[in-house]
Amino acid sequence: MEIKELQKEIERHDVLVQKHFREEAGSEVRVQNLMLKIGEEYGELCEAVLARRGAQRKVKLDKANESDVGDELADLIVTALALAVNLNLDIEKILKDELETVHGRFGG
Ligand SMILES: [Mg+2]
Repeated sequence: MEIKELQKEIERHDVLVQKHFREEAGSEVRVQNLMLKIGEEYGELCEAVLARRGAQRKVKLDKANESDVGDELADLIVTALALAVNLNLDIEKILKDELETVHGRFGG
């Protein structure tokens, strides 16, 4: 999938979520809720990584499965990209710019 295509998919996904929660695109409420959702998804990713490392209580280890880390990482990425869409950011541009910055920092 090309990044422009991914941006359109995220925009379509975000419209569905906005309708479900009755939030307006780009509104302060939508942006704040996405910020909170990123925190929630990050926490879920941390739980999945801890479980994969065996560093969780048995009750959580019993519920964990091998696909959890990928699923939670995808949740976090999709939510972060939805935030980018609601802030009217061009996902391809911000990713390219950031990669150039990081590569420059490390001499790449
Ligand atoms: Mg999740």
